Amino acid sequence: MFDSSTPLLQHGNSKLGRAIHVWSIPALDTCPGSTAVCRQLCYATRHRFRFDSVRRRLAWNRRQCDRPDFVERMVAEIRSSGVLVLRLHVAGDFYDAEYAGKWTAIVKRSPRVRFYGYSRSWRVASIAAALEELAALKAVRLWWSVDDESGIPANVPSTVRLAYLQTSSAAPPSAADLVFRPPRLRSLPELPVVCDHETPSGRTLGVTCGSCGRCFR
Ligand code: SF4
Repeated sequence: MFDSSTPLLQHGNSKLGRAIHVWSIPALDTCPGSTAVCRQLCYATRHRFRFDSVRRRLAWNRRQCDRPDFVERMVAEIRSSGVLVLRLHVAGDFYDAEYAGKWTAIVKRSPRVRFYGYSRSWRVASIAAALEELAALKAVRLWWSVDDESGIPANVPSTVRLAYLQTSSAAPPSAADLVFRPPRLRSLPELPVVCDHETPSGRTLGVTCGSCGRCFR
């Protein structure tokens, strides 16, 4: 079904907008820094992510990461497809330092592209340094994902911002640069720090990441 001529990247979903390209791998198996809270709420285990076709596609993507030509193929496709913004891991995360290093190599060879994503792998000692190296690149906007279980990291690199997963009606921590709310909390009073796609007024306006851009600009 998929072979080496299959494009690695796909276009964004209804939240991201079509202009943003996406790279994903299977959730949970590739999320060593995950918390019980995020595993419980993970959208990448629900809805269309349960379809066999989507699961097969993500498993294929994961296998591509292990191929010696992964970096070369990704760089070539980013160039030939005219990618402007690439969202890393709508599903999945940086599962080890070597994989994070591959993205550092890809970014260094794609300086005009903006890469962004959210990761809990900052919680894994063997991955943290590689992730900080990636986050330090000018073309990258990397967010450390946090929640009440992970707590707020003691040291946050200057190039990193914090995305907090809200799970109760309590006020988000002041350290949060952005707040994501699960559907059951989206009727709480709107706050400037909440993702615009997840507020009633943002939904009414049809905000997508492509039109918002807060996470990658
Ligand atoms: S804040 Fe904006 S860019 Fe970030 S996830 Fe929400 S809609 Fe997308």
